[in-house]
Amino acid sequence: MTKAKFYKSGLRFECSECGQCCTGTGGYVEVSRREAETIAGFLKLAEQEFLEQYIDFPEGGDRLRLKSGANGDCVFLADNRCRIYPARPLQCRTFPFWPENLKSPYRWKLAARVCPGIHRGRRYSAAEIEEILGAMKNRDAKE
Ligand code: SF4
Repeated sequence: MTKAKFYKSGLRFECSECGQCCTGTGGYVEVSRREAETIAGFLKLAEQEFLEQYIDFPEGGDRLRLKSGANGDCVFLADNRCRIYPARPLQCRTFPFWPENLKSPYRWKLAARVCPGIHRGRRYSAAEIEEILGAMKNRDAKE
């Protein structure tokens, strides 16, 4: 028997654009080669130029890691705003509906300590949440 998901009645979330999820140490943002191309295009940079300026270990595999500042902030965070918001990668677009945050009500509560958008705004249905989780899983399976 499948265990009922704690979010079967949905979860509320609305981003307040506080920038908290883009700051501090302990995390990093991964982008695919395709996402890197999209961001480079958004910034009107040649791919190589983009890789040199914004990616750690650009010679790495298909999963590339965005650089962080000395304080751990995302390289694209400026004045608490994302400089590439319209072209931001899947990892950013799907926050806070990440598998690790949806493992249990406790993990969701922990995520809410970082993200003031949790527990407010519109209610995402369980189906919508599953769709977001599926997008993350597909990304992981492809790369
Ligand atoms: S921490 Fe939450 S509310 Fe703040 S910018 Fe990130 S997603 Fe939005």
